[in-house]
Amino acid sequence: MGTYEAPKLNVHQREESLRRKAPGSVSRHERALKSLAGGVSSGLRRSAKPFPLYFSSGSGPHIEDVDGNRYVDYMLGWGPLILGHAPAAVSEEIRLHLGRGYTFGGQHDLEFEVAEMIQKIVPCAERVAFANSGTEIVQVALRLARAYTGRQKYLKFEGHYHGWDDSVLLSYHPSATQIAQFYPSPIPVGLGQRVDSGAVVVEWNNQSAVEEAFRVHGAELSAVICEPLLCNSGCIPAKPGFLEFLRKITQANGTLLIFDEVITGFRLALGGAQQHYGIVPDLATFAKAVGGGMPLSVLAGREVYMDRIASGEVVHAGTLNGNPIVLAAAKATLQVLSANGGEAYQRMWSLGETLKEGLLRRFKERNIPVVATAGGPVFQIHLQNKEPHTYRDTLMSNKSFYVDFAVAMLDEGIVLLQDGRWYISAAHGDEEIARTLDATSRALA
Ligand code: PLP
Repeated sequence: MGTYEAPKLNVHQREESLRRKAPGSVSRHERALKSLAGGVSSGLRRSAKPFPLYFSSGSGPHIEDVDGNRYVDYMLGWGPLILGHAPAAVSEEIRLHLGRGYTFGGQHDLEFEVAEMIQKIVPCAERVAFANSGTEIVQVALRLARAYTGRQKYLKFEGHYHGWDDSVLLSYHPSATQIAQFYPSPIPVGLGQRVDSGAVVVEWNNQSAVEEAFRVHGAELSAVICEPLLCNSGCIPAKPGFLEFLRKITQANGTLLIFDEVITGFRLALGGAQQHYGIVPDLATFAKAVGGGMPLSVLAGREVYMDRIASGEVVHAGTLNGNPIVLAAAKATLQVLSANGGEAYQRMWSLGETLKEGLLRRFKERNIPVVATAGGPVFQIHLQNKEPHTYRDTLMSNKSFYVDFAVAMLDEGIVLLQDGRWYISAAHGDEEIARTLDATSRALA
């Protein structure tokens, strides 16, 4: 941030106000800490400031905590709630199937019905396979790439997240010191991780680094995997031509191109990033939005690759895979998203752009350096002067000020992801956007 002095938000006062408003969350967290490691169910939630909130219900764009405080929600369960909380059409479909049994460990109609819907929607989906989480389905994709090519290594990009398996939880959010010390070696995130993953790590949007990696490792690279829009480290788009370049260099080297569309799938467009950007990968992984909030993940890909799963050569297993409850949720979610020529996407894009522009204006009015990346249904606010093109570029943003801002917004009744990312759902409307922009003006005042 150079010599720039960020204004101080009265965050102490905001935290005190939240403690007064949400005593039920404070006491529950203290209780949970005595039984649940970290008091939360996923490591990333531990860092929520000023304390993790306990929620009792959600409806449309709103979420309510155990003390009855109602918030406009832009966290949206970290992305899955593309239709908002508890959309009627999805709840109804789930209810219908709940009465018929939760899981069969055998076949049922929803499996091929949802597979057929995805086939129609997703450009690369000649065949699909189901699992429960994004982490699992990425492992199936990488295994398939190894089996098809007979190669052991894969290329990933710095800052990209592909789940929490040892093989991919590498060079996710390394510090500048770690990068200086270890790059280009893959950098594990936590203790106890295996490091023999075969990962080759390069910077996002760095064409010559990818070319060099292919020059050195090309004959051993089974796959290149990327978030086609780098949502997990600042919503950083590929530079013009970069995805096309990845498509070409993988084709030329007999390496599979995998788009990890766990976030972008059914969010950027009905057909995901591959439809939005017009680049068709060999394989793509989906989770989050496709299940509308239920635990479903999907591998989609060309038949020639997916045949290895069909033949049983590549193992794809899972007790709860494709159970009727999650597929009922997926069916209803995809029906709503597809309705009226995908009208929900026009609305999410338009609302997201209005919100993004309104936020930028309010930060600029306060002379706070700010830029935004991506747009519409998912975008990021960065408190820095220069638009980031790589994960490293995001290291210069004023993250602590943004967290203070997010705390002030919470006090104003708006739930945000505290890393600067904003998700919009089809349930959000003009009223929520107006309320959010008013709250932003007060939070920054
Ligand atoms: N891939 C991407 C791009 C993700 O954003 C995530 C989760 O945030 C995953 C994979 C892992 O998905 P899950 O949390 O369902 O295991």
